[in-house]
Amino acid sequence: FRLVGPKIYTETDHCIKSGDVNKDALEVIFRLKSAGHTAYLVGGGVRDLLLKKQPKDFDISTSARPEQIKELFGRRCLLIGQRFRLAHVRMGNHVLEVSTFRAGDADSSSLIVRDNRWGTPEEDVLRRDFTMNALFYDPTTHTILDYVGGYQDIHDRLLRSIGDPHLRFKQDPVRMIRLLKFRARFNFHVDAKCEHAMHTCQEEILKSAPARVLEEVFKMLESGYSANFFLLLSKSNFLEILFPCFHHFFCGKDKNIAFSYLNAIDEIHHKYDMVLDRAELLAGLVFPILEQELIALTEHRQMTLSYGDIVHLSHSLLRGITTSSFAHFPKKIVAITHYILTTQYRLTPQSGKPRFASRFSSPQDFRLALNFLNIRSQVNPELQEIYLSWKKAHHSS
Ligand code: ATP
Ligand code: MG
Repeated sequence: FRLVGPKIYTETDHCIKSGDVNKDALEVIFRLKSAGHTAYLVGGGVRDLLLKKQPKDFDISTSARPEQIKELFGRRCLLIGQRFRLAHVRMGNHVLEVSTFRAGDADSSSLIVRDNRWGTPEEDVLRRDFTMNALFYDPTTHTILDYVGGYQDIHDRLLRSIGDPHLRFKQDPVRMIRLLKFRARFNFHVDAKCEHAMHTCQEEILKSAPARVLEEVFKMLESGYSANFFLLLSKSNFLEILFPCFHHFFCGKDKNIAFSYLNAIDEIHHKYDMVLDRAELLAGLVFPILEQELIALTEHRQMTLSYGDIVHLSHSLLRGITTSSFAHFPKKIVAITHYILTTQYRLTPQSGKPRFASRFSSPQDFRLALNFLNIRSQVNPELQEIYLSWKKAHHSS
Protein backbone atom coordinates (compact mmCIF):
# COMPACT_ATOMS: atom_id res chain seq x y z
CA PHE A 1 0.00 0.00 0.00
CA ARG A 2 1.74 3.17 -1.15
CA LEU A 3 1.71 6.23 0.98
CA VAL A 4 0.45 9.17 -0.95
CA GLY A 5 0.14 11.81 1.62
CA PRO A 6 -0.96 12.92 3.81
CA LYS A 7 -3.66 14.63 1.89
CA ILE A 8 -4.90 17.49 4.00
CA TYR A 9 -8.51 18.54 4.22
CA THR A 10 -9.08 21.92 5.81
CA GLU A 11 -12.06 23.38 7.61
CA THR A 12 -13.53 24.60 4.34
CA ASP A 13 -13.37 21.10 2.80
CA HIS A 14 -14.97 18.95 5.49
CA CYS A 15 -18.13 19.08 7.58
CA ILE A 16 -16.62 18.66 11.07
CA LYS A 17 -17.22 21.66 13.33
CA SER A 18 -15.06 22.14 16.41
CA GLY A 19 -18.18 21.98 18.58
CA ASP A 20 -18.84 18.43 17.29
CA VAL A 21 -15.85 17.03 19.12
CA ASN A 22 -16.30 15.95 22.70
CA LYS A 23 -14.82 18.49 25.14
CA ASP A 24 -13.04 15.85 27.22
CA ALA A 25 -11.35 14.47 24.11
CA LEU A 26 -10.27 17.99 23.16
CA GLU A 27 -8.83 18.58 26.59
CA VAL A 28 -6.81 15.35 26.49
CA ILE A 29 -5.45 16.27 23.04
CA PHE A 30 -4.55 19.81 24.15
CA ARG A 31 -2.77 18.55 27.24
CA LEU A 32 -0.76 16.03 25.26
CA LYS A 33 0.17 18.74 22.77
CA SER A 34 1.17 21.27 25.38
CA ALA A 35 3.52 18.63 26.80
CA GLY A 36 5.23 18.53 23.40
CA HIS A 37 3.60 15.40 21.93
CA THR A 38 1.67 14.98 18.71
CA ALA A 39 -1.97 13.97 19.27
CA TYR A 40 -4.94 13.47 17.00
CA LEU A 41 -8.46 12.26 17.13
CA VAL A 42 -8.59 9.02 15.15
CA GLY A 43 -10.68 6.10 13.99
CA GLY A 44 -14.42 5.69 14.52
CA GLY A 45 -14.90 9.16 16.00
CA VAL A 46 -13.60 10.96 12.89
CA ARG A 47 -15.42 8.55 10.58
CA ASP A 48 -18.76 9.03 12.36
CA LEU A 49 -18.44 12.84 12.40
CA LEU A 50 -17.82 12.80 8.64
CA LEU A 51 -20.90 10.59 8.23
CA LYS A 52 -22.84 13.03 10.42
CA LYS A 53 -23.50 10.33 13.00
CA GLN A 54 -23.08 10.66 16.72
CA PRO A 55 -19.75 8.93 17.55
CA LYS A 56 -19.88 6.28 20.28
CA ASP A 57 -16.43 7.19 21.49
CA PHE A 58 -13.54 9.47 20.66
CA ASP A 59 -10.22 7.66 20.39
CA ILE A 60 -6.96 9.51 20.52
CA SER A 61 -3.65 8.60 18.92
CA THR A 62 -0.44 10.16 20.15
CA SER A 63 3.35 10.11 19.97
CA ALA A 64 3.43 9.91 23.78
CA ARG A 65 4.42 6.48 25.15
CA PRO A 66 2.08 4.81 27.65
CA GLU A 67 4.38 5.75 30.55
CA GLN A 68 4.42 9.38 29.40
CA ILE A 69 0.62 9.43 29.19
CA LYS A 70 0.52 8.01 32.71
CA GLU A 71 2.93 10.66 33.92
CA LEU A 72 0.85 13.42 32.40
CA PHE A 73 -2.57 12.30 33.64
CA GLY A 74 -1.55 10.58 36.87
CA ARG A 75 -4.39 8.91 38.73
CA ARG A 76 -6.81 9.64 35.93
CA CYS A 77 -4.86 7.28 33.70
CA LEU A 78 -4.95 3.50 33.71
CA LEU A 79 -2.62 1.54 31.45
CA ILE A 80 -4.33 -1.58 30.14
CA GLY A 81 -3.90 -4.45 27.66
CA GLN A 82 -1.17 -6.95 26.88
CA ARG A 83 -1.72 -7.64 23.21
CA PHE A 84 -2.45 -3.97 22.62
CA ARG A 85 -1.20 -1.64 25.36
CA LEU A 86 -3.13 1.55 25.69
CA ALA A 87 -4.13 4.20 28.20
CA HIS A 88 -7.60 4.84 29.56
CA VAL A 89 -7.86 8.46 30.63
CA ARG A 90 -10.80 9.31 32.85
CA MET A 91 -12.34 12.77 32.49
CA GLY A 92 -15.34 13.14 34.77
CA ASN A 93 -17.37 10.00 34.14
CA HIS A 94 -16.05 9.64 30.61
CA VAL A 95 -13.17 7.28 29.73
CA LEU A 96 -11.07 8.06 26.65
CA GLU A 97 -8.82 5.57 24.89
CA VAL A 98 -5.41 7.02 24.21
CA SER A 99 -3.04 4.86 22.19
CA THR A 100 0.53 5.43 21.14
CA PHE A 101 1.32 5.54 17.40
CA ARG A 102 2.49 2.07 16.52
CA ALA A 103 4.18 0.37 13.59
CA GLY A 104 2.57 -2.84 12.43
CA ASP A 105 4.00 -5.14 9.77
CA ALA A 106 1.48 -4.53 7.02
CA ASP A 107 2.99 -7.12 4.65
CA SER A 108 3.30 -10.07 6.99
CA SER A 109 0.79 -12.90 6.70
CA SER A 110 1.22 -14.24 10.21
CA LEU A 111 -1.28 -13.79 12.99
CA ILE A 112 -0.65 -10.71 15.10
CA VAL A 113 -0.25 -11.76 18.72
CA ARG A 114 1.16 -8.49 20.02
CA ASP A 115 0.95 -5.02 18.57
CA ASN A 116 3.10 -2.81 20.75
CA ARG A 117 5.93 -1.57 18.50
CA TRP A 118 5.87 2.22 18.55
CA GLY A 119 5.96 4.10 15.27
CA THR A 120 5.17 7.28 13.38
CA PRO A 121 1.70 8.64 12.56
CA GLU A 122 2.03 7.22 9.02
CA GLU A 123 2.92 3.78 10.33
CA ASP A 124 0.07 3.96 12.79
CA VAL A 125 -2.40 4.55 9.99
CA LEU A 126 -1.06 1.67 7.92
CA ARG A 127 -1.68 -0.91 10.63
CA ARG A 128 -5.37 0.05 10.94
CA ASP A 129 -8.13 -2.02 9.36
CA PHE A 130 -10.14 0.01 6.83
CA THR A 131 -9.41 3.29 5.06
CA MET A 132 -12.44 4.98 6.59
CA ASN A 133 -11.06 4.20 10.07
CA ALA A 134 -7.64 5.66 9.38
CA LEU A 135 -8.18 9.41 9.34
CA PHE A 136 -6.56 11.78 11.81
CA TYR A 137 -8.32 14.94 12.90
CA ASP A 138 -6.23 17.72 14.35
CA PRO A 139 -8.49 19.93 16.45
CA THR A 140 -5.91 22.71 16.74
CA THR A 141 -5.79 23.32 12.97
CA HIS A 142 -9.23 21.81 12.23
CA THR A 143 -7.66 19.67 9.53
CA ILE A 144 -8.04 16.06 8.52
CA LEU A 145 -4.90 14.12 7.62
CA ASP A 146 -5.50 11.31 5.18
CA TYR A 147 -2.68 8.91 4.26
CA VAL A 148 -4.81 6.18 2.68
CA GLY A 149 -7.64 7.79 0.68
CA GLY A 150 -10.17 7.21 3.46
CA TYR A 151 -11.81 10.61 3.04
CA GLN A 152 -12.74 9.91 -0.57
CA ASP A 153 -13.84 6.35 0.33
CA ILE A 154 -16.23 7.71 2.96
CA HIS A 155 -17.56 10.11 0.37
CA ASP A 156 -17.97 7.22 -2.12
CA ARG A 157 -19.37 4.96 0.62
CA LEU A 158 -16.71 2.34 -0.01
CA LEU A 159 -15.35 -0.15 2.52
CA ARG A 160 -11.76 -0.88 1.60
CA SER A 161 -9.02 -2.51 3.62
CA ILE A 162 -5.65 -0.85 4.07
CA GLY A 163 -3.22 -3.04 2.13
CA ASP A 164 -3.84 -6.48 0.66
CA PRO A 165 -7.05 -7.77 2.29
CA HIS A 166 -5.84 -11.42 2.18
CA LEU A 167 -2.84 -10.52 4.30
CA ARG A 168 -4.77 -8.18 6.52
CA PHE A 169 -7.46 -10.78 7.29
CA LYS A 170 -4.82 -13.44 7.94
CA GLN A 171 -2.98 -11.13 10.30
CA ASP A 172 -6.14 -10.49 12.23
CA PRO A 173 -9.25 -12.45 11.20
CA VAL A 174 -11.49 -10.37 13.50
CA ARG A 175 -11.21 -7.70 10.79
CA MET A 176 -13.62 -9.80 8.69
CA ILE A 177 -16.25 -9.57 11.42
CA ARG A 178 -15.52 -5.85 11.68
CA LEU A 179 -16.10 -5.51 7.95
CA LEU A 180 -19.56 -7.04 8.35
CA LYS A 181 -20.20 -4.76 11.31
CA PHE A 182 -19.42 -1.60 9.34
CA ARG A 183 -21.37 -2.88 6.38
CA ALA A 184 -24.40 -3.57 8.60
CA ARG A 185 -24.14 -0.14 10.17
CA PHE A 186 -23.37 2.05 7.18
CA ASN A 187 -24.50 -0.01 4.21
CA PHE A 188 -21.29 0.81 2.29
CA HIS A 189 -20.20 -1.07 -0.84
CA VAL A 190 -17.40 -3.51 -0.21
CA ASP A 191 -14.33 -3.29 -2.39
CA ALA A 192 -14.14 -6.36 -4.71
CA LYS A 193 -10.75 -7.54 -3.41
CA CYS A 194 -12.05 -7.39 0.16
CA GLU A 195 -15.15 -9.33 -0.81
CA HIS A 196 -13.03 -12.04 -2.41
CA ALA A 197 -10.66 -12.22 0.55
CA MET A 198 -13.63 -12.66 2.88
CA HIS A 199 -14.45 -15.94 1.11
CA THR A 200 -10.94 -17.30 0.93
CA CYS A 201 -9.96 -16.34 4.50
CA GLN A 202 -13.21 -17.34 6.17
CA GLU A 203 -11.90 -20.34 8.13
CA GLU A 204 -9.07 -18.20 9.52
CA ILE A 205 -11.60 -16.74 11.93
CA LEU A 206 -11.13 -19.89 14.03
CA LYS A 207 -7.58 -18.74 14.78
CA SER A 208 -8.71 -15.51 16.38
CA ALA A 209 -9.26 -14.88 20.07
CA PRO A 210 -12.87 -15.96 20.80
CA ALA A 211 -13.37 -13.18 23.35
CA ARG A 212 -12.65 -10.54 20.69
CA VAL A 213 -15.16 -12.09 18.29
CA LEU A 214 -17.76 -12.23 21.03
CA GLU A 215 -17.11 -8.60 21.94
CA GLU A 216 -17.79 -7.51 18.34
CA VAL A 217 -20.98 -9.60 18.26
CA PHE A 218 -22.25 -8.08 21.53
CA LYS A 219 -21.32 -4.59 20.34
CA MET A 220 -23.47 -5.19 17.28
CA LEU A 221 -26.38 -6.53 19.32
CA GLU A 222 -26.13 -3.27 21.26
CA SER A 223 -25.83 -1.08 18.15
CA GLY A 224 -29.35 -0.88 16.77
CA TYR A 225 -28.23 -2.74 13.61
CA SER A 226 -28.24 -6.29 14.91
CA ALA A 227 -30.75 -7.69 12.43
CA ASN A 228 -28.66 -6.41 9.51
CA PHE A 229 -25.52 -7.78 11.08
CA PHE A 230 -26.97 -11.26 11.68
CA LEU A 231 -28.27 -11.32 8.13
CA LEU A 232 -24.76 -10.61 6.83
CA LEU A 233 -23.24 -13.14 9.27
CA SER A 234 -25.62 -15.82 8.08
CA LYS A 235 -25.22 -15.04 4.36
CA SER A 236 -21.44 -15.12 4.60
CA ASN A 237 -21.29 -18.44 6.51
CA PHE A 238 -19.66 -16.89 9.56
CA LEU A 239 -22.73 -17.68 11.63
CA GLU A 240 -22.37 -21.37 10.78
CA ILE A 241 -18.68 -21.37 11.62
CA LEU A 242 -19.01 -19.42 14.86
CA PHE A 243 -22.46 -20.22 16.24
CA PRO A 244 -23.87 -23.35 14.58
CA CYS A 245 -26.98 -23.39 16.80
CA PHE A 246 -27.94 -19.87 15.78
CA HIS A 247 -27.14 -20.63 12.15
CA HIS A 248 -29.54 -23.55 12.26
CA PHE A 249 -32.31 -21.26 13.46
CA PHE A 250 -31.50 -18.09 11.48
CA CYS A 251 -31.29 -20.03 8.22
CA GLY A 252 -34.10 -22.49 8.86
CA LYS A 253 -37.87 -22.33 8.47
CA ASP A 254 -38.25 -20.11 11.55
CA LYS A 255 -35.80 -17.46 10.43
CA ASN A 256 -38.47 -14.76 10.32
CA ILE A 257 -39.22 -15.32 13.99
CA ALA A 258 -35.52 -15.12 14.82
CA PHE A 259 -35.15 -11.83 12.96
CA SER A 260 -38.30 -10.36 14.47
CA TYR A 261 -36.66 -10.45 17.91
CA LEU A 262 -33.54 -8.72 16.60
CA ASN A 263 -35.72 -6.12 14.89
CA ALA A 264 -37.49 -5.49 18.20
CA ILE A 265 -34.15 -5.10 19.99
CA ASP A 266 -32.99 -2.65 17.29
CA GLU A 267 -36.23 -0.67 17.49
CA ILE A 268 -35.95 -0.33 21.26
CA HIS A 269 -32.41 0.93 20.81
CA HIS A 270 -33.43 3.58 18.29
CA LYS A 271 -36.58 4.58 20.17
CA TYR A 272 -35.13 4.96 23.67
CA ASP A 273 -31.43 5.35 22.81
CA MET A 274 -30.63 2.73 25.42
CA VAL A 275 -28.26 -0.19 25.54
CA LEU A 276 -29.85 -3.42 26.71
CA ASP A 277 -28.17 -5.72 29.18
CA ARG A 278 -26.10 -8.45 27.51
CA ALA A 279 -28.15 -11.19 29.19
CA GLU A 280 -31.29 -9.70 27.63
CA LEU A 281 -29.57 -9.59 24.24
CA LEU A 282 -28.59 -13.24 24.53
CA ALA A 283 -32.15 -14.00 25.61
CA GLY A 284 -33.29 -12.27 22.40
CA LEU A 285 -31.34 -14.84 20.40
CA VAL A 286 -32.33 -17.86 22.47
CA PHE A 287 -35.96 -17.22 23.47
CA PRO A 288 -37.47 -17.78 20.00
CA ILE A 289 -35.51 -21.05 19.72
CA LEU A 290 -36.81 -22.15 23.12
CA GLU A 291 -40.35 -21.26 22.08
CA GLN A 292 -40.14 -23.31 18.90
CA GLU A 293 -38.68 -26.28 20.78
CA LEU A 294 -41.48 -26.04 23.33
CA ILE A 295 -44.11 -26.03 20.60
CA ALA A 296 -42.52 -29.05 18.96
CA LEU A 297 -42.29 -30.94 22.26
CA THR A 298 -45.85 -30.06 23.27
CA GLU A 299 -47.13 -31.34 19.93
CA HIS A 300 -45.08 -34.47 20.29
CA ARG A 301 -46.27 -35.22 23.83
CA GLN A 302 -49.80 -33.94 23.25
CA MET A 303 -49.74 -32.10 26.59
CA THR A 304 -48.47 -28.82 28.01
CA LEU A 305 -45.09 -28.97 29.63
CA SER A 306 -44.59 -28.23 33.29
CA TYR A 307 -42.54 -25.28 34.53
CA GLY A 308 -39.89 -27.81 35.61
CA ASP A 309 -39.73 -29.18 32.04
CA ILE A 310 -39.24 -25.64 30.74
CA VAL A 311 -36.41 -24.99 33.20
CA HIS A 312 -34.77 -28.20 32.07
CA LEU A 313 -35.20 -27.35 28.39
CA SER A 314 -33.80 -23.83 28.80
CA HIS A 315 -30.84 -25.27 30.64
CA SER A 316 -29.98 -27.84 28.01
CA LEU A 317 -30.55 -25.39 25.17
CA LEU A 318 -28.13 -22.87 26.70
CA ARG A 319 -25.62 -25.64 27.37
CA GLY A 320 -25.87 -26.80 23.75
CA ILE A 321 -25.33 -23.28 22.46
CA THR A 322 -22.39 -22.69 24.78
CA THR A 323 -20.59 -25.91 23.96
CA SER A 324 -21.08 -25.71 20.19
CA SER A 325 -20.11 -22.05 19.78
CA PHE A 326 -16.61 -20.87 18.91
CA ALA A 327 -16.84 -18.06 21.43
CA HIS A 328 -18.21 -19.11 24.80
CA PHE A 329 -20.67 -16.78 26.45
CA PRO A 330 -19.54 -15.81 29.96
CA LYS A 331 -21.08 -18.06 32.64
CA LYS A 332 -22.60 -15.14 34.52
CA ILE A 333 -24.42 -13.87 31.43
CA VAL A 334 -25.67 -17.39 30.65
CA ALA A 335 -27.01 -17.80 34.21
CA ILE A 336 -28.96 -14.52 34.02
CA THR A 337 -30.21 -15.39 30.54
CA HIS A 338 -31.51 -18.68 31.91
CA TYR A 339 -33.37 -16.74 34.61
CA ILE A 340 -34.82 -14.30 32.06
CA LEU A 341 -35.97 -17.14 29.81
CA THR A 342 -37.58 -19.28 32.48
CA THR A 343 -39.19 -16.29 34.21
CA GLN A 344 -41.07 -15.56 30.97
CA TYR A 345 -43.13 -18.68 31.69
CA ARG A 346 -44.08 -17.31 35.08
CA LEU A 347 -44.93 -13.89 33.67
CA THR A 348 -46.99 -15.42 30.87
CA PRO A 349 -47.76 -19.00 31.97
CA GLN A 350 -48.65 -21.51 29.30
CA SER A 351 -51.83 -22.32 31.15
CA GLY A 352 -53.70 -20.57 33.95
CA LYS A 353 -53.42 -16.93 35.00
CA PRO A 354 -50.23 -15.11 35.94
CA ARG A 355 -49.78 -14.65 39.69
CA PHE A 356 -49.00 -10.98 40.07
CA ALA A 357 -48.36 -11.36 43.79
CA SER A 358 -45.58 -13.94 43.25
CA ARG A 359 -42.21 -13.39 44.89
CA PHE A 360 -39.17 -13.22 42.65
CA SER A 361 -35.68 -13.74 44.01
CA SER A 362 -33.49 -10.92 42.70
CA PRO A 363 -35.09 -7.52 41.94
CA GLN A 364 -32.35 -6.69 39.41
CA ASP A 365 -32.75 -9.91 37.48
CA PHE A 366 -36.52 -9.60 37.70
CA ARG A 367 -36.29 -6.16 36.11
CA LEU A 368 -34.37 -7.72 33.21
CA ALA A 369 -37.00 -10.45 32.84
CA LEU A 370 -39.72 -7.82 32.82
CA ASN A 371 -37.83 -5.76 30.23
CA PHE A 372 -37.62 -8.87 28.15
CA LEU A 373 -41.38 -9.24 28.31
CA ASN A 374 -41.47 -5.75 26.82
CA ILE A 375 -39.28 -6.94 23.92
CA ARG A 376 -41.65 -9.88 23.43
CA SER A 377 -44.58 -7.51 23.41
CA GLN A 378 -42.95 -5.57 20.56
CA VAL A 379 -42.82 -8.81 18.59
CA ASN A 380 -46.25 -9.89 19.72
CA PRO A 381 -48.50 -6.88 20.55
CA GLU A 382 -51.03 -9.16 22.26
CA LEU A 383 -48.61 -9.26 25.19
CA GLN A 384 -48.69 -5.49 25.68
CA GLU A 385 -51.52 -5.62 28.17
CA ILE A 386 -49.99 -8.27 30.37
CA TYR A 387 -46.65 -6.47 30.25
CA LEU A 388 -48.28 -3.29 31.55
CA SER A 389 -50.07 -5.23 34.31
CA TRP A 390 -46.80 -6.74 35.46
CA LYS A 391 -45.12 -3.38 35.35
CA LYS A 392 -47.85 -1.91 37.52
CA ALA A 393 -47.78 -4.83 39.97
CA HIS A 394 -44.00 -4.62 40.18
CA HIS A 395 -44.07 -0.88 40.75
CA SER A 396 -46.51 -1.06 43.62
CA SER A 397 -44.71 -3.96 45.37
P1 ATP B 1 -17.01 1.63 16.82
O1 ATP B 1 -17.85 2.76 16.36
O2 ATP B 1 -17.74 0.30 16.81
O3 ATP B 1 -16.29 1.87 18.11
P2 ATP B 1 -14.40 1.85 15.70
O4 ATP B 1 -13.92 1.90 14.29
O5 ATP B 1 -14.17 3.05 16.54
O6 ATP B 1 -15.93 1.47 15.66
P3 ATP B 1 -12.91 0.44 17.68
O7 ATP B 1 -12.95 -1.03 18.02
O8 ATP B 1 -13.34 1.43 18.68
O9 ATP B 1 -13.77 0.58 16.35
O10 ATP B 1 -11.43 0.73 17.19
C1 ATP B 1 -10.91 2.05 17.04
C2 ATP B 1 -9.98 2.12 15.83
O11 ATP B 1 -8.88 1.22 15.99
C3 ATP B 1 -10.62 1.72 14.51
O12 ATP B 1 -11.32 2.79 13.93
C4 ATP B 1 -9.43 1.26 13.70
O13 ATP B 1 -8.72 2.37 13.16
C5 ATP B 1 -8.54 0.61 14.75
N1 ATP B 1 -8.81 -0.85 14.86
C6 ATP B 1 -9.70 -1.45 15.67
N2 ATP B 1 -9.67 -2.78 15.52
C7 ATP B 1 -8.71 -3.03 14.61
C8 ATP B 1 -8.18 -4.22 14.03
N3 ATP B 1 -8.65 -5.42 14.37
N4 ATP B 1 -7.19 -4.09 13.12
C9 ATP B 1 -6.71 -2.87 12.78
N5 ATP B 1 -7.17 -1.73 13.27
C10 ATP B 1 -8.16 -1.78 14.18
MG1 MG C 1 -14.59 3.21 18.59
